[in-house]
Amino acid sequence: MASLIRLSTEQQKLAERARRFVDEELVPHEVAAERSGGRLPPDVVEGIRAASIRAGLNGGRHRPEHGGQGWSTVDYAAVHEQLGRNTNGLWWWIPDAYNVLSAASDEQARRYLEPALRGEVVVSYAVTEEGAGSDPSAIRATARRDGEDWVLDGEKWFVTSGDVADAHVVVANAEGYGPTLFIVDADRDGVAVVDDPPFTHTFPHGHPTIRFTGVRVPAGAVLGEPGGADALQQDWFVEERLGITAHCVGAMGRLLTEAVAWTATREQGGRRLAEHQGVSFPLADSAADATAARLLLYEVATLADSGADRKVVHAKASLAKLFASEAAYRCADRVVQAFGGRGYVRTYAAERFLRELRVDRIWEGTSEIQRLIVARSLHRRGVDAVIG
Ligand SMILES: Cc1cc2nc3c(=O)[nH]c(=O)nc-3n(C[C@H](O)[C@H](O)[C@H](O)COP(=O)(O)OP(=O)(O)OC[C@H]3O[C@@H](n4cnc5c(N)ncnc54)[C@H](O)[C@@H]3O)c2cc1C
Repeated sequence: MASLIRLSTEQQKLAERARRFVDEELVPHEVAAERSGGRLPPDVVEGIRAASIRAGLNGGRHRPEHGGQGWSTVDYAAVHEQLGRNTNGLWWWIPDAYNVLSAASDEQARRYLEPALRGEVVVSYAVTEEGAGSDPSAIRATARRDGEDWVLDGEKWFVTSGDVADAHVVVANAEGYGPTLFIVDADRDGVAVVDDPPFTHTFPHGHPTIRFTGVRVPAGAVLGEPGGADALQQDWFVEERLGITAHCVGAMGRLLTEAVAWTATREQGGRRLAEHQGVSFPLADSAADATAARLLLYEVATLADSGADRKVVHAKASLAKLFASEAAYRCADRVVQAFGGRGYVRTYAAERFLRELRVDRIWEGTSEIQRLIVARSLHRRGVDAVIG
């Protein structure tokens, strides 16, 4: 029977290119990355970058005139499902930029967006603060006017790639306007990495704390309009949450593939593990989780492309991220168990996924925040809009 997920021939080819890229260019480096704390030799990184550009995977959602691929949401989901099959975040080496940079002025596109999509520049995104995580309205970073310039003060936590970034997109309360996005060059006076702690996963970059002390930027550093942060971030959240959903779907696919291969050959107690229902039933539950999450992913991505009510899409992206991230973690836990002692060894993908998938229930809005969004939507948009 045909799947309910209908990818066009072009989309199937794109997904196949992404799958090949993951299998040939990323998976072979996972164990080396794990053994070296996430870092890979520069020539390997350059090889991954170049291969991703040859495969047409860089700058996926950005417009072709900026060097992107102009993907639809479904295209993006199809590629990121494949990227999710990779551990150690090696796909982060694909040149790309956060989607808020699509609001870049011509000058900002020339300086940041276009070089980022060529792999020459890294731009991080700094919203979270010590006192402002799930509640961004608690942000204390400020930007005050001084002549034509802005002067920024504040401290941002968990800035992914902040240790290697050339520039940071910083959310600060701009005097007279409210939350505003600023692009701040990392080498400006007053920008300092004040802590770079280790995290649970073994990834290419860190998530440091960055302090901004009296950092002077020109008026042209504002991304979009002064006071425009909330609107720009709304779209960003939908994309990021669907991206996480896609990664979780891909991770579940790989986890199951590895578990099926292992339980088909490993024998204990005179029988293959697959013949012990205590081992195989959790895999059946994981297959149900993976299938449901995959259907949800493509349903929401298709809805987003159809121009549906943005608020409904927002709620459904939260619902998808909530379900897929919780399901993927359950799935990783079950697969670790099926591998026994090997499931606790870092050179096995199941072990790495168990650590790496945990953050998908935390970043881009915790599971509790997704539940808040979905619960509110049930009342505001109606049950049929949310589950229909
Ligand atoms: C590896 C990693 C990378 C990250 N990268 C970035 C980045 O690049 N840029 C960036 O800006 N941030 C980044 N973050 C920050 C991330 O988005 C936040 O950690 C997340 O939003 C949660 O905020 P918090 O850590 O302050 O937790 P808190 O908001 O303090 O939450 C603590 C707990 O309370 C719960 N809680 C909070 N409010 C409510 C509520 N209203 N109802 C019910 N429960 C609630 C939460 O669900 C959570 O369980 C990253 C975090 C990690 C771990």
